This record gives sequence, C-alpha cells and structure tokens, in this order.
Amino acid sequence: MKKTILILLLAGSVLSCQKQKFETIIRNAVIYDGSGKASFTGDVGINADTIAYVGDLSKAIATNDIDAKGMALAPGFIDTHSHHDWGMFEIRDMPSCVSQGITTIVVGQDGGSNFPLSDFYKKVEEATVAVNVASYTGHNTLRDSVIVGDYKRFCTPEEIEGMKGMLKQDMEAGSLGLSTGLEYDPGIFSHPDEVIDLAKVAATSNGRYISHIRSEDRYFWKALDEIINIGAVTKMPVQIAHTKLAMKSIWGQSGRLIKKMDSARAAGINLTADIYPYAYWQSTMTVLFPNRDFKNRKTAEFILNEIAPSDGLLIGRYSPDTSYVGKTLTEIAALRKTDPPKTLMDLIAEVESKKGDESIIATSMEEKDIAEIMKWPYTNICSDGSGVGRHPRGYGAFTKILRQYVREEKVLTLEDGIRRMTSLSADNLGMEKRGRIETGNYADLVLFDPATVADRATPKKPQLQSVGIEKVWVNGVEVFVQGETTKKYPGRVIRRNK
Ligand SMILES: [Zn+2]
Repeated sequence: MKKTILILLLAGSVLSCQKQKFETIIRNAVIYDGSGKASFTGDVGINADTIAYVGDLSKAIATNDIDAKGMALAPGFIDTHSHHDWGMFEIRDMPSCVSQGITTIVVGQDGGSNFPLSDFYKKVEEATVAVNVASYTGHNTLRDSVIVGDYKRFCTPEEIEGMKGMLKQDMEAGSLGLSTGLEYDPGIFSHPDEVIDLAKVAATSNGRYISHIRSEDRYFWKALDEIINIGAVTKMPVQIAHTKLAMKSIWGQSGRLIKKMDSARAAGINLTADIYPYAYWQSTMTVLFPNRDFKNRKTAEFILNEIAPSDGLLIGRYSPDTSYVGKTLTEIAALRKTDPPKTLMDLIAEVESKKGDESIIATSMEEKDIAEIMKWPYTNICSDGSGVGRHPRGYGAFTKILRQYVREEKVLTLEDGIRRMTSLSADNLGMEKRGRIETGNYADLVLFDPATVADRATPKKPQLQSVGIEKVWVNGVEVFVQGETTKKYPGRVIRRNK
C-alpha cells in the first residue's frame, strides 16, 4: 500500500516537471470566443488543425510562441454569402478574404453555382486555396441546363424532374442546399411552385435554402412572403441573402420587416438573414427592370427616382465601352449629351445587342435600415463580395463592421459583432466545429487590434486592403501575417453535415 502511494507521488512530480507542449501558443490575447459572451484574457494552444486548449498556458511551451499583446482573438470570420470563388484559382492566397479576417467562404449564391459540385470540390482540393470553401447549388444554374431555347416561361414537369435529379446529385456531393436568385434570369421566370419542388429535394437531404429574393424593392413584401412560405412548407432553415430595403418608398420600414421575420420564427419557421454593411449594392442594370422592359422610359424614370439615383449609379463593368467604367450615369449622360433615363435604356440596348456584359454599383438603401436589420438577433454578416469586383465589400465588409458599426457608431458591441461573423454564421449554415474558440474546434482564428481595425476599400479603390488585422489562421496554419499573405493554402472543402 505504502509503495503504491510512493510510486503515485513520484509519477505525479515527474508529470508536473514535464511542461505541456503545443505546436502554437497564442498568449495574452483578449479572447472573443464567438458566442457573444464577455471577452476574457487568456491563451490558446493549437496542435495540427485543432484548438487544443483555451485558458492559462503560462506553464506550457510551444514551437511557435506568439505574444498577442492584448489584441483581440476571435474565430475566423465566416462569409455566408460570398462570391470570393471568382478568381480564386488564380489568386489562391485570397488576400481579399484573409486581410479582412475571413477564413471560410460560402459560394454558389444568387442561384449560380458550379455544377456538378463534386467536380468543383475536387478542383478546390487539388488546387488548394487559403480559405475553407462551402457551396450551395444554384437554381439558375440548374434551370439553364434543363431549358432549351426560350427560358422566359415556367418549366415543364419534365424539366423540373431534370433539375431535381441534378440537385439530388449535388446534395449527395455535400451541397449545403438550394440557393436562388429570383431577381435574375432565368429564375425570375420560375413559378413559385417550381422553387418549392426543388426546395423539398434539399429539405429531404437535410439541406437548407438561401435566397436573393424575388424583389428587393417594388415587390419586396411579396418576395418576403415567398421565402417564409418555403420555410413553412419544407420545414428547413431558410436565409434571406444580403437583406435590404432597396427603394425609397420602403425606406424606414425595417421595423415592419423585423416584425414579419419575428412572427415567422414564432410560427416555428427557421428564418435567418445575412447583411453586408453598405448602402450601395453591385449587380446589373437589367436587374432593375423586373419586367425586362428595357425600352420603357417610364420604368427607367421610376428606377432613377425610386431605386438607383443616377449620380449614385456607378458603372463597374461595361464591355461595349470600357471608358465608362468608374463613371456615374449622370456623367455618362452628359458625355452622350442626353438625359439619364435615355442613357440607361441605351446602355442596356448596346450591351444586349453586342451580347456584352455590364455591372453597376447603385445606392438604394438607408443607413438607419441597415443598422436595424443588422441588429436583428438572427442576422449574420456577409460580404456578398469578391476579390475581383468593383464593390469595396470584397475587401472591406467585415472590417467595416468592426470599424463603423462596432467602434464608431456602437450599433453592435464587439462581442455581438464577432458573434454575427462567427458562431451565428456557423449556426445559420449548420456548420460544426467552426465559428467558436473551443477546445476541439478547428483552429480558424483572427488576431486583430479593435482600436485600429478598419476597412479602406472604396468604390474608386475597391481593392485597398484593410488595416488592423494582425494574423489569420486557417486550420491551424498562418495564412496572413501583418499585411501579407503567407502563400500557404490550408483551406478545405466543407461539405454539409449529413
Ligand atoms: Zn444577390
């Protein structure tokens, strides 16, 4: 008996002499764990791709010992509505993402995705990129492949069956679910029942639904009803993408919107939302014409009065005349010696006749609504951006939240702002082991200075890198250190939890 105790005592003292060792320790960080709870000062130990310890590691040693010097350590930001796959295979270190703290992107948005997803996932895994990638399956992509000829009509039962089969195939490959872009071609021509038929396929596979809803302006309330109905019928989680009130006459109605969203949730519908922090969007000129009546001057006038004032309507891309890029519609109208409504109609006609492409940035939202929608408890942050777009959100969405909405305007506390970029986002995606600093989770982390973090990108200079992001890890690997990408590619494909 005595002997056993002695051996145990000896063993104990040997153990306490041996220092615990980690591959990486981040010391003296103010840890925002993503949950929204108050921050605390502590250390994080990382082994391989995993957070191995959170707490006091003052007695432990590490190969890579980092002093956070009291800066904020948060889970890597999850971009739930992203177009950062554009140019991803050419710019694999993805500075647009990592320089603003994004460690996971969710693509396949607005009804457009890579099909089949199995091929896309394989390509991501073979090419390797800096951040994690998940994807939805896009309704418009499916619709484009089943419809031959005129797509400005409802689908036939056979075509719907075709799309269902394709979606099933993608769900098998790990798609998160169905995404729609019902303001765009060809989705805008779909009957709501077509969308429900497809949504049911995603729901059967334990998937989810995200939508650029059928209207963000004229028919907003009807479009909101459509997504709520999809949630009610399919019982799967539904998310409104880049939520906005994008027309003057519905400005100030964020209270009404929140009430509707709350009552949907109270009725048992798992409705959530995402938002990006800008009063201006980037899309096409044609999306402004839901009836596609591009030659109707009345419609053009309505658009410029109600939705996209011509001096805030900036050309992002215009293949028939690239000299227009960066100019406003007002400026182009002056150059062409005509008025803005006619210019808008003519620019579309020229792009259509040359089968070219175009994009615009337009200011349609009001700051007060943005703040109110952002504060809804189920709204997470997204960028809707890419590294190659003209909209500054591609480089600055998350850092703009931290600068403007947290630090300057105090719309959100830092804890809550981070929650809306991390754990809430993961929850809204059904994504496990990411979005929280917890032992056993993947080591996707961002270290930043809350006092200086700021976006710098503007519509004129959309690729200006943010400041204040010190270090970013993806799956335990440093991908961004003090303003530079490390040219490491630890990003993984994230498939839906089955
Ligand atoms: Zn969209």
